[in-house]
Amino acid sequence: MIPHLAEAFTLKSYEQLLQIGLDAGYRFSSFSEPDEFPDGPTCLLRHDIDNELLHCDPMLSVERRLGVRATYFVMLRSSAYNLHCVEALEIIKRIIADGHWLGLHFMGERFENATADEIVSEVRREAAWLETEFGVPVRAVSFHQPSRSIIEGNLEITGLVNTYNRKQLAGYHYMSDSNMDWRGHDPYQALSGRQYWKLQLLIHPMWWTHHPLSLLEKWQSVLRMNTRATTEHWQAREATLRNASVTWQWGEPR
Ligand SMILES: [Zn+2]
Repeated sequence: MIPHLAEAFTLKSYEQLLQIGLDAGYRFSSFSEPDEFPDGPTCLLRHDIDNELLHCDPMLSVERRLGVRATYFVMLRSSAYNLHCVEALEIIKRIIADGHWLGLHFMGERFENATADEIVSEVRREAAWLETEFGVPVRAVSFHQPSRSIIEGNLEITGLVNTYNRKQLAGYHYMSDSNMDWRGHDPYQALSGRQYWKLQLLIHPMWWTHHPLSLLEKWQSVLRMNTRATTEHWQAREATLRNASVTWQWGEPR
């Protein structure tokens, strides 16, 4: 049974969801080895990080507690975070230290009219940058808001698994929490009943909060936390800002 929508997208229900999967015998694999466990059900747990990179610690805690590994797909071109900033480097370090895999979440907006070859070349360039910067292999790419041609094109990129490539992920069923809408699927039932022996489960950390919130509130919360992180960064480094008699109002913590 899917819990009531607002209740369903809490960190507690995320933990329940993973626990249900573990109890049913699912093992959590990397996209580069989707057939690592041929004898049992496998879940490729995928996190596409559009906005909330600096606020992934609560999700990391849940996964650490349960010993579940995911692939964190990060963006080089997010409007909401900067992969070069010190706070981003710290959280990526924690993601890697926890044993998760790093993937590229590719923002293809500039490539709407590009050829497949041009997209492939840019994806490889960005993935190579991630590898150099963080010193880990990057073996998978997920496309942000993929166009129909990306979804149906089965783009092949040497050295990388494209999460929308049906040949590379043959047999895998795809389920996503996009905008807190499972589109008729019940992930709790799917995992408990081993409905799909091979499951690619896309979970956006920004939807899974400590308390139930509406979609708009979750958006506001993440954007507010980003402003807070920026303000705290400069408060710690700029005497003028630190000494200013300003009261910062951040509202409810996430
Ligand atoms: Zn995205």
